[in-house]
Amino acid sequence: MISAAVLASSAFTASAQSRSIPIVRDAEIEALVTDYTTPILNAAGLGNRRIGTVLVNSQSFNAFVDGRRIFINTGALLQSETPNEIIGVIAHETGHLAGGHQDRLREQLKQAKTMAVIGMLLGLGAGIAGAATRNSAIAGAGGGIAAGGGEVAMRSLLSYQRSEEAAADRSAINYLNKTGQSAKGMLTTFERFASALSISGTQVDSYRISHPLPRDRIANLETLARQSPNFEKKDPESLQVRHDLARAKIAAYSGGLGSIQRIFRNNPRGLGARYGDAIYTYLNGNPRNALPKIDVLIKEQPKNPYFREMKGEILLKANNPAGAATEFKQAAALDPRKSSLIRMSYGRALMLTGNKANMEAAIRELKAGVVRDPEFSEGYGYLAQAYGQSGQMGLSDLATADQHYYAGRINEAKIFATRAQTRLKSGSPDWLRAQDIINTKTKKK
Ligand SMILES: [Zn+2]
Repeated sequence: MISAAVLASSAFTASAQSRSIPIVRDAEIEALVTDYTTPILNAAGLGNRRIGTVLVNSQSFNAFVDGRRIFINTGALLQSETPNEIIGVIAHETGHLAGGHQDRLREQLKQAKTMAVIGMLLGLGAGIAGAATRNSAIAGAGGGIAAGGGEVAMRSLLSYQRSEEAAADRSAINYLNKTGQSAKGMLTTFERFASALSISGTQVDSYRISHPLPRDRIANLETLARQSPNFEKKDPESLQVRHDLARAKIAAYSGGLGSIQRIFRNNPRGLGARYGDAIYTYLNGNPRNALPKIDVLIKEQPKNPYFREMKGEILLKANNPAGAATEFKQAAALDPRKSSLIRMSYGRALMLTGNKANMEAAIRELKAGVVRDPEFSEGYGYLAQAYGQSGQMGLSDLATADQHYYAGRINEAKIFATRAQTRLKSGSPDWLRAQDIINTKTKKK
């Protein structure tokens, strides 16, 4: 399992932005998933809705659209052998969204804690289910769901109807056709769920319960899928390589060596297997042993920003922040997405050099990062340290206040905002930001 403690200081971090849902932040995987979802959303006419992607740190297979965001479990990426398999599931979820099948769900979301319901749909466990079932409206709707047994009942309450499943399948095939992709992967995934031999029993249950898979649905889906001229079409090789690299990273963080070896059993010396090995060595061994492994990969793909980013992480662990800063800077320059995560890593490495001459640049990079990505609360933590090292204590306190604020710790945020105000010029924009935090209403527990 990926644990927040292991991930807190790495490129691949679990954020505490939501208390119920363990979110994974990673520039490489986020860019890949965005490339999977964007063409599908455009084909569905939803391209202008600015639907975001959230990676959920869970081994189980799930994907879920709530109207504003697409949630994808890292386990779903890990279990999908090709991009096409997960793209098919995204297309199906988009079909539910475009078809307005979520009206009932929206009703439920209005009444319950949104994150709690989403957590339940994603199969994230009883703690979250308990939070939702304490809501009397939900308990009533489910016919008096008792805590504990509530999870399954709740999920079936929120499950799609058979007619909606058929409609979502048809829409999905339409989007895949429009984007020149095969529906074979979707069929493969759903056949796997429908078969008794599903990979890990309970792990796929949450998706299976919310998306009923009777035999005739699979049969209809297969007929439609085979009618497409794209049925035998494969994913572009470059996309498959990126998919394998993302799976290698997830496996290294969550499953360990055995998982990497299992995924790449047919290509044990391929790029994915070696990337997984380099990351695993960095996480669990001596970072100095990981360095030559990542260097070989950089030599093979000198323009891959994420190999450079990983080298930066390895150098940080090897207590070489100056070297890490050089790598992160190159990664940021190579990154076509301009991920704020990579910029913040660059800023963090500059800050960690402890060299006063680097602090201005560190603050610049970290500020640019948190402005674009304020919910990544760790970014404010690094910014607070950089301000502290450059002697700007008021701004350091304010950044700490923001770190707590975006992590949902409002009381702690207010303490630091109050202290920041004593050190900031009254009425200045920063002082006013502190006042906003002080004025935040605290939610009742
Ligand atoms: Zn469905």
